Amino acid sequence: MNTAPARRLDPAAAVAAPFDVERVRADFPILSRTVHGKPLTFLDSGASAQKPRQVIDAISRCYEAEYANIHRGVYELSAKATEAYEGARARVQRFVNARSASEIVFTKGTTEAINLVATSWGGAFLGEGDEVVLSVLEHHANIVPWQLLRERTGIVLRVVPTDEHGALLLDAYEALVGPRTRLVALTHVSNALGTVTPVAEIVRIAHAQGALVLIDGAQGIVHCPVDVQALDVDFYCFSGHKLYGPSGIGVLYGKEALLAAMPPYQGGGDMIERVTFERTTFAPPPARFEAGTPSIAGTVGLHAAIDYVASFDPAAVAAHEHDLLAYATERLSALNSIRLYGTAPGKAAIVSFTMDGVHPHDIGTILDRAGVAVRVGHHCAQPLMDHFGIAGTVRASFGLYNTRADVDRLIDGLDEVREIFG
Ligand code: PMP
Repeated sequence: MNTAPARRLDPAAAVAAPFDVERVRADFPILSRTVHGKPLTFLDSGASAQKPRQVIDAISRCYEAEYANIHRGVYELSAKATEAYEGARARVQRFVNARSASEIVFTKGTTEAINLVATSWGGAFLGEGDEVVLSVLEHHANIVPWQLLRERTGIVLRVVPTDEHGALLLDAYEALVGPRTRLVALTHVSNALGTVTPVAEIVRIAHAQGALVLIDGAQGIVHCPVDVQALDVDFYCFSGHKLYGPSGIGVLYGKEALLAAMPPYQGGGDMIERVTFERTTFAPPPARFEAGTPSIAGTVGLHAAIDYVASFDPAAVAAHEHDLLAYATERLSALNSIRLYGTAPGKAAIVSFTMDGVHPHDIGTILDRAGVAVRVGHHCAQPLMDHFGIAGTVRASFGLYNTRADVDRLIDGLDEVREIFG
């Protein structure tokens, strides 16, 4: 159950358009191409979503007409680029309802955002015996940075299990959080199963013990409304490329007082106040955490992607994705050689499955020949695969532009797999 209020539309954006999937598809040029002579059926948005014309055009416009380095130049173009960069920060702030734009740090993506918190906040404030709570659902991006920190500091990692449907066991979570817990670092939505975790409840339990909460929102930002103030999360991380924006740009949201107390993550240009060979003082957040030239066009593309997503009625998008999930689940369940993983109630539009006697890689290869792009393997969640006692799954993840016909083509492809493997 997600208790966050519905995502609010940007008042500056156009009035919410009714959701018309064919019009949406027309916005995505790549969807009209073929693969192996077949129409592309793209079911891998969970790995990275395709980009609408609006995002592609915004990035082209940036390079064609408004590009220069930011923050340093006194000339017109640099001022324009700086305005665009800081404008994107303000757009992200409104999108996640942060209190202030200085709570929005641009990173390369979710992975860098989590590493930033682990290195900077973890390195400064955690020591031997302090506990960080993770879950079995986590992507490697929310496991390995904490293991690296454990090697440096002697922290202890605790892992919340799930039930057989892939739902987080809240009682087990509550029992794990105690006086030594300093941070709970959990995913909002599992990339491998689609499980949506109850963030507000997770935060309530952690805060009651004085622990902070970091949410890996790489998938959550795409499928759920996110209001960081309503959820009261301390850190929220996401990537532009899963939200129909470019790769190489992502966001760390952090509460102002936390960011202000954190030491720099990397040193270089733009993050300083004053440098001498004896001593350097640092800029306040967010600049303190943005050393070097950032992905300027990436922020412009992210801004356009957020405007694009926010132009739809969130309830209509949710209904569309729910319909695809329900339809895919129904059609897959009707195939008796298929086993579904991740059937928690209220899950996001991601289906993960295995087929008796056929390796997921063989399924992926045969589906590709039919123009159907799915992800196969461990989905960067090896501990979760171990939990289910499998090496990997086939995963179909749905985006704004998918249709029931895409699900039908997936099922037709699976029929071919069954014919080949008898
Ligand atoms: N967490 C989750 C849940 C993810 O799905 C992903 C991307 N697959 C990541 C973290 C890492 O995101 P990125 O590669 O964009 O840094």
